[in-house]
Amino acid sequence: MPPGPKDEFREIAEVVADFAARELAPIVDELDEKEMLAPGIFAKLAELGLLGITAPEAYGGAGLGAVAASTVIEELAYVDPGTALSYLAHALLFVHNVGINGSEAQKERYLPPCIRGEWVGGLAMTEPEVGSDAAAMAARAVREPGGWKLNGSKMFITNGPFGDVFLAYARTSESHRKLTMFIVEKNFPGFFRGRKLRKMGMRSSPTGELVLEDCHVPAANLVGVEAEAIRPMMKNLDIERVGLAAISLGIARACLDHAFRYARERRQFDAPIIEFQAVSHTIADMYIEWRAAEGLVYEAARAVDAGERARKLSAAAKTFASEVATRAGLAAIQVLGGYGYIREFPVERLMRDAKLIEIGGGTSEILRNVVVAELRKGY
Ligand SMILES: Cc1cc2nc3c(=O)[nH]c(=O)nc-3n(C[C@H](O)[C@H](O)[C@H](O)COP(=O)(O)OP(=O)(O)OC[C@H]3O[C@@H](n4cnc5c(N)ncnc54)[C@H](O)[C@@H]3O)c2cc1C
Repeated sequence: MPPGPKDEFREIAEVVADFAARELAPIVDELDEKEMLAPGIFAKLAELGLLGITAPEAYGGAGLGAVAASTVIEELAYVDPGTALSYLAHALLFVHNVGINGSEAQKERYLPPCIRGEWVGGLAMTEPEVGSDAAAMAARAVREPGGWKLNGSKMFITNGPFGDVFLAYARTSESHRKLTMFIVEKNFPGFFRGRKLRKMGMRSSPTGELVLEDCHVPAANLVGVEAEAIRPMMKNLDIERVGLAAISLGIARACLDHAFRYARERRQFDAPIIEFQAVSHTIADMYIEWRAAEGLVYEAARAVDAGERARKLSAAAKTFASEVATRAGLAAIQVLGGYGYIREFPVERLMRDAKLIEIGGGTSEILRNVVVAELRKGY
């Protein structure tokens, strides 16, 4: 592992890298083939103390921040980006969010079982008809005795097919940006799982549709302030985007390592192919782009941890790192030639996994809009 901007968490990085090499590397192709979550993965990550990485220590969390979380995510993604994605949805989209925005009672009820790996969480924002324009979502919540009645459908939800508890957004007023956040458990009446979605990549991270049909949510499960969820939603997107960018870093580094190793071993025209400048410069560019992305991603993570306004940096980091990772996947396939294209080598899987990060958590187009909007407010 080369020295890098997250050296303060080198020990955690080594533990996670060792875990991923032992527990995930031997089964990663099977998980991809069968589109399944690694068996028992959340219990194992709980044993390592990783599920509440940013959660308060009082609830069993590690009390660390975005740099530490990104370090864990990058090391998981180096071996299996899908596992990293499901971990991110649990640890950052649910646990971190509840830790920041939840009431004391909500933290007491949800954080300990989620940190012990007994419950798996996720976040349900996207809908079949509403993605980038999240504030226009259609899901509705209306008051009823003892709480709220939720109706709506949520699409592309990571951990949806098996998760136990979700943060779900719904509209409590016709007004455009008046969204409210609720904690919805799988056993609440009116909570249904829709279909599990078959995907191009990230196949070890189950994705699905959730359906809320007159779903009764107790009043105590409203998170924060009614109709004021836009601000916490946007704020949590910063750490989510940094975490997603860390997945891209892991992928880009894995592609570089596979391509470099192969180029030194593979011989054509009586020489290792790394002797051909077209190949060696491809590898040099992969290294340059990965390192540049790493600097940007961890700078954004530090800004999140410092409590600075990190919207622009986190959007920039995810946009750049995700596109670097996709390029790295394609470049690695090219360096491996025919072997790069077949499924016995990991680079075609890494390329398929990489593409998701240009889409989830805000597409590259939307994030470029975010960067410009922030620039217009001043550097
Ligand atoms: C594997 C996977 C996991 C996911 N996990 C979750 C999850 O756990 N929770 C969750 O809530 N969501 C999740 N998502 C949803 C994801 O965040 C959305 O797919 C994403 O935000 C884009 O929304 P959309 O797919 O509806 O695309 P759309 O918003 O319909 O966009 C389609 C295209 O139009 C472009 N476009 C739209 N508006 C503009 C604009 N103003 N300017 C320029 N271009 C524009 C987009 O960039 C894109 O290229 C997941 C998605 C996937 C694929």
